[in-house]
Amino acid sequence: MFRQTKRRTLGRRNFEDSKGSHIYAGNASMKNKELLETIYSNRLSFYSVPPFEEITLDEFEKWALDRLKVLIEIESSHLRNKTMKELESSIKPILEKHLPLSTNTKDLNQLVAERRKDHYSHYILRLAFCRSEDLRNRFVRAESTLFKLRYKMLSSQEQKQFINGLHLPWEAVNEEEKQTHFEQLLAACTVPIRGILSQETNVVVTNESVRAFCAKEQFLKVPFEFIPDLVSSHSIFMHKGFGYVPQFQQLSLIANQFVSQLTESLQITVRSIPKLDEDDRLLPVLNHISKGYIANEYQSNFKDGDADVGDINAETVQSKSVSQHYPLCMSHLMKGLNQEHHLKYLGRQQLSLFLKGIGLSVDEALKFWSFNFTKGPMNLEQFNKEYRYNFRHNYGLEGGRINYKPWDCHQILSKASPSRDEYHGCPYRDLTSEKLTMELNKMGITDQYDVNTIVDNSSRGDYTNACTKVFELTHKKEIEIATQKTKFDLSLITHPNLYFDRSRKLAKVVEETS
Ligand code: SF4
Repeated sequence: MFRQTKRRTLGRRNFEDSKGSHIYAGNASMKNKELLETIYSNRLSFYSVPPFEEITLDEFEKWALDRLKVLIEIESSHLRNKTMKELESSIKPILEKHLPLSTNTKDLNQLVAERRKDHYSHYILRLAFCRSEDLRNRFVRAESTLFKLRYKMLSSQEQKQFINGLHLPWEAVNEEEKQTHFEQLLAACTVPIRGILSQETNVVVTNESVRAFCAKEQFLKVPFEFIPDLVSSHSIFMHKGFGYVPQFQQLSLIANQFVSQLTESLQITVRSIPKLDEDDRLLPVLNHISKGYIANEYQSNFKDGDADVGDINAETVQSKSVSQHYPLCMSHLMKGLNQEHHLKYLGRQQLSLFLKGIGLSVDEALKFWSFNFTKGPMNLEQFNKEYRYNFRHNYGLEGGRINYKPWDCHQILSKASPSRDEYHGCPYRDLTSEKLTMELNKMGITDQYDVNTIVDNSSRGDYTNACTKVFELTHKKEIEIATQKTKFDLSLITHPNLYFDRSRKLAKVVEETS
């Protein structure tokens, strides 16, 4: 899979396509059709066969980062205590964008390309995340959730085909055998089926409905050593050393198998890492990936003269209608500016670039800053002499004429924490638990469980998760309305301007609906 030197790579005939087309290194005659009949026969995989083709370094990094975006969102959803159903709805659009797995009805080349990307990206992340126990555990947890989500997306035919393709000593119970043991199967499953039915329907669960559910259920015959938990809890029917596992319990059974195989494989992968230490191209990429940082993709909708930002001016940026959409870091900076009539360099940069990102033009920015700085002892002449250049510079009108972008959370968190009289940074990192709790209360978050979740996330260093959780709690009603109407992006917030845009967009959807 990995080439040893750049020179060898460039010299290879099978790499002549600059777009990075794939020609099978192991078996040049293997066609996409054959791949679909062998290792890519199902959308879902246990990733038992390691990659065997060459890929470019660009693909290596891009595919890994795309998968990482999905796994980070899963991990972040776990940290925000999302239910499986909520997680499902937030992950599906991200999966479709970064790691789609189409059904067999699409064209073959596309199917192979998608499954290859899924396959290779999984193995690349194995390399990046096998280095420590903590990274391994995080990877296994996120991958097993992804596996479960995808299993649920399969049709029952695909699920059946997938289980058969695993070549585990399990077999589907045929109709004849099911009828022979039907009463015992029903007796063993009655309690969990009642639970499922009472959750799914509002009608009273009767013996007939339980019987009908059981009659439709597919069972798997599994050797007892694979299911010690189910055997010891007497929750399934046992016969001649086999447990009869109903369909509704099969996912956790298969997921457990996935987890144990992946955990074992990661132990093996970590032993191959020293061989990679000689490769000066892959290691930096893997180190970068394992730190979990993804270059932020946020793009502001703002363009100079954009009509949509017409309401953003020197006055409105401090009005409730606009400032209600600010994340905590920006409200904190505004508060500091009001108190001090001044902000030190990092605070000025953080707030000024944020305001530029939401659509404040340079003229309005100069009005806003001069107005606020001259509320104290400073006069306009001093402002023009000492600060005008700085703000014009941020808009690319002075010095190197670089059009600076608003800082994302990663950039903000990479700066030193604020000292006394400074207001920059991220309050989820910089405020004490007591002060943060007070801020949360002011935002209307008073439920002790919610407050504890946010404070815990912050003290663990999961600042963007804490911020996203706050967004979800403070926009609960709007999210409910918007998600009924349209697919709404609720992924992790990693940029203050993303927080602002998302909040404003929600308000707009609600306004249109009402
Ligand atoms: Fe601001 Fe990002 Fe911190 Fe939220 S997580 S407060 S957007 S820096």
